[in-house]
Amino acid sequence: MNPAFLDKLVQTLGKDIVIVDPAEIEPWLTDWRGVYKGGAQAVVRPTCTQQVADCLRLCNEYRVPVVPRGGNTGLCGGATPDASSANVVIALDRMNRVRSIDTIANTLVADAGCILGNLRRAAEAEGRLLPLSLAAEDSSQIGGNVATNAGGVNVVRYGMTRELVLGIEAVLPTGEIFNGLQTLRKDNTGYDLKQLFIGSEGTLGIITGVALKLLPLNRVRSVVLAAVETPRQALELLRSVYGRCGARLQAYEYFTDACLDLVLTHVDGLQQPFEQRHGGYVLIELADTADEAGLQSLLEEAIGEALENDLCQDAVVSASMGQLQTLWRLREEISEAQRADGPHLKHDISLPIERIPAFIETAERRLREVAPDCRLFIFGHFGDGNLHYNVSRPAGADRSWAKEWETRIASTVFDEVMAYGGSISAEHGIGQLKRHEFHHHKDPMHLRLMLQIKQIFDPNSIMNPGKLL
Ligand SMILES: Cc1cc2nc3c(=O)[nH]c(=O)nc-3n(C[C@H](O)[C@H](O)[C@H](O)COP(=O)(O)OP(=O)(O)OC[C@H]3O[C@@H](n4cnc5c(N)ncnc54)[C@H](O)[C@@H]3O)c2cc1C
Repeated sequence: MNPAFLDKLVQTLGKDIVIVDPAEIEPWLTDWRGVYKGGAQAVVRPTCTQQVADCLRLCNEYRVPVVPRGGNTGLCGGATPDASSANVVIALDRMNRVRSIDTIANTLVADAGCILGNLRRAAEAEGRLLPLSLAAEDSSQIGGNVATNAGGVNVVRYGMTRELVLGIEAVLPTGEIFNGLQTLRKDNTGYDLKQLFIGSEGTLGIITGVALKLLPLNRVRSVVLAAVETPRQALELLRSVYGRCGARLQAYEYFTDACLDLVLTHVDGLQQPFEQRHGGYVLIELADTADEAGLQSLLEEAIGEALENDLCQDAVVSASMGQLQTLWRLREEISEAQRADGPHLKHDISLPIERIPAFIETAERRLREVAPDCRLFIFGHFGDGNLHYNVSRPAGADRSWAKEWETRIASTVFDEVMAYGGSISAEHGIGQLKRHEFHHHKDPMHLRLMLQIKQIFDPNSIMNPGKLL
């Protein structure tokens, strides 16, 4: 705590913007999972870019550590300050204005604090699609999505957040405003600096505005849940469905029977989708801008062919919007069901898709050598090679199990991921959760260049210390 700094901050921004009462600060100090808890001398809730700039200039002058905070749905502790009471949390929630939507250029420009789901609905009202979609979309903010380069369920068709960003406005730690908020589709004028902010996890500056690409709105959707016995079958099913349905393939999600079991145990109103249980399940969505009958029969034909060729064991195709949503809930409620089940170790990994089945087999073997009775919950965005490889305590074990086993289990999983040519973070980022593993596995030359870039943007290292780098 620095009284001179705090006085100046309140003087500059006003009491409405700067919260200093410890009781009011408290809710801003914990992460979504309740795993991390930190301290802060103030929470700043700016309403415009200039206020962010004024705040950062002062923090830089007084060398005060700054933690940017979006919707706080990040799963790596990136938006939670460390234990020191010196931190200032800058929360973007009041910067929530859609600045423009252009249906000729197909672009949307918004403040960074806008909730992703609100932006999706704003685009939809204009007949356009903002294709970034994740289970946390009604809490996470577009600034947080960009800062983590979020993925989600439609990456198989539209790519990660990075592929949707046209421009960024950000405030550097010095208080200077980086104005890269353009909507041009083409701009070949040297280094594309906005890219550095995408996935930077609040370590280079604060994103205050984002320009995004919009796409044609899908008006028809069709979903099938297919039962498979093995990940190998899920892989061959992907090859076959993509071959038949091509660009209409909107989502290809996988989960094991253990995940289904967890959801049926902890979430009300859901039933077992098939008469008998299977090794795993694949949720496939097709979407198109028109032609309902065509899409549904395309999916039915694709699945019929897959059943004939023994690429899946059983399948249920959605016959109504209600059924489509229920099938999706079986997949999307897994995170909530895990939260209800208790502490667990998350490994958000990516792999070359064709190596997923072999990885799953080997990783489980290695893991059982280390922690024989742990419970494994594997699910995720199979279609783009991203698995959530989550490990929970054995039945009957104490809740402290996860803390005790965290390091051994993470290094077993990540060593295997690296051996298969994958990445230890597919879409959640590094935050404080994976910092150690990141430094251990990242190529030293990449790491050196990252540190040099950080030094240029943030010479006093005030931005989100203890995260990523
Ligand atoms: C149920 C559930 C499902 C999820 N599913 C997915 C999924 O499918 N795909 C996926 O990718 N993620 C998923 N996530 C993780 C999370 O939703 C994403 O990482 C999301 O992009 C985080 O956004 P946020 O606004 O909540 O950011 P926060 O959690 O607030 O912050 C995340 C990081 O970004 C930084 N940051 C936030 N805002 C800014 C800003 N304006 N400028 C600079 N830095 C900033 C923070 O300092 C922190 O380092 C899920 C989370 C939950 C709880």
